Amino acid sequence: MTNDVEKREEREKELIDLLEAEDIERFREAFLQLHPYEQASFFSELKKPDRMKVYAYLSPREVSFVMENIELEDTEKFITEMDPHFATMVIAEMAVDDAVDLLKELSIDEVASFLTLMDEEPASQIKELLHYEEKTAGSIMTTEYFTIKDTLTVKETLEYMKEKAPDAETIYYVYVLDEDKKLVGVLSLRDLIVADENDRIRDIMNKNVVSVSVGKDQEEVAQMIRDYDFLALPVVDFQNHLLGIITVDDILDVMDEEASDDYSKLAAISDVYARDLSPFEAAKKRLPWLVILLFLGMITASLIGSFEKTLEQVPIVAIFIPLIAGMAGNAGTQSLAVAVRGIAVGDYHSGNRSKLIWRELLTGVLTGSANALIVVPMIYIWKGNLFLGLLVGLAILTTVIVATLSGTLIPLLMERFNIDPAVASGPFITTLNDIASVLIYFGLATIFISMLL
Ligand code: ATP
Ligand code: MG
Repeated sequence: MTNDVEKREEREKELIDLLEAEDIERFREAFLQLHPYEQASFFSELKKPDRMKVYAYLSPREVSFVMENIELEDTEKFITEMDPHFATMVIAEMAVDDAVDLLKELSIDEVASFLTLMDEEPASQIKELLHYEEKTAGSIMTTEYFTIKDTLTVKETLEYMKEKAPDAETIYYVYVLDEDKKLVGVLSLRDLIVADENDRIRDIMNKNVVSVSVGKDQEEVAQMIRDYDFLALPVVDFQNHLLGIITVDDILDVMDEEASDDYSKLAAISDVYARDLSPFEAAKKRLPWLVILLFLGMITASLIGSFEKTLEQVPIVAIFIPLIAGMAGNAGTQSLAVAVRGIAVGDYHSGNRSKLIWRELLTGVLTGSANALIVVPMIYIWKGNLFLGLLVGLAILTTVIVATLSGTLIPLLMERFNIDPAVASGPFITTLNDIASVLIYFGLATIFISMLL
């Protein structure tokens, strides 16, 4: 590992030196040997004068590979500092779907001026894709794929693929269209290679094509790719005309995006993904949630206040408040994580929901009892008071059960009412569980107060 890092640092230093020395030949040789991902991470760290040199030393196509691999937030800066004609050529050389993602980061004026400068063909491909609504299949698909007519033979198909392969997003699937351009079949490269040269495509293709409609939510597309294990899925309109394909590499980005969305909501922050926020901006995003939680916390405090009399009589119960509230929070967060993930990947339907609830209830009983059994003798030995131990044990048992169940029930209920369950965030569940656990603990303490005195 350190070896890799060292090697990489050495290589990057060498590249910087070559840039300093303006040794174009050797810089190109060393730079182009890197994987585009490595090229991009090296490039992103450069200062502006060095970046300008890189643009001058590389062709638009070579720069396009770098841009395809750069974090989207940064691409705007790079594209707008290039000479506009050069930038236009870079965008035209990029994979269409990546070019569209990039353009979506720019202002309408910038997009318009790049598209005006661009050749007709790439410009029209890009324009077509720019229309689709965010987070739908249309917005992540690409139009660079193979299509063939079902009347071809295997031999003709392979020859055609050989010719078109350099520009296709994936070469592993060919999609088969009928005369009306409707999607009627699909073949994998393996299917073609194992078939007889003279077989007709129509006779050997898979006719039962799995496709997604262009307006489908990207998260559902990700789910389908995961379920079917295809490397790409075709995207069609309502009449089954092929509009594009979505490849698995784009789906990885979607899953990343959706996971960080869910994660943000779980932590009650609007956006965990924002790397470049100033402390002030970050505080602005987090503060509203913290203030709401502060008010909820005040409810907990006033609840404790209402048990003032119990506290006066047996002040020792106070030292276990954080323990019990903490246990409730922990148990709730555990079951919440399980439920939210399960809902996000579509594990739950009406049939197995009640099974999940039962399982969580029993899990709560088991984990609660185990903790209670541990805590009772500990407190007995520590404080020499068996009843205090039993009180805390009973409170832990009850609160862990309640917390485990609420961590499951609340997200399930929210889903039922079409609220994104990830919003039932950790902090909220934790604060609700705080309130419940305080009520339970002091309720029990008040009932059994005579034994504690
Ligand atoms: P390999 O697994 O080595 O890549 P393969 O031929 O098994 O080769 P897969 O990606 O596993 O390729 O695809 C399995 C089968 O599914 C192939 O026969 C392919 O034609 C078919 N297929 C691919 N895409 C679709 C689709 N959208 N709908 C229906 N079938 C498809
Ligand atoms: Mg396979």
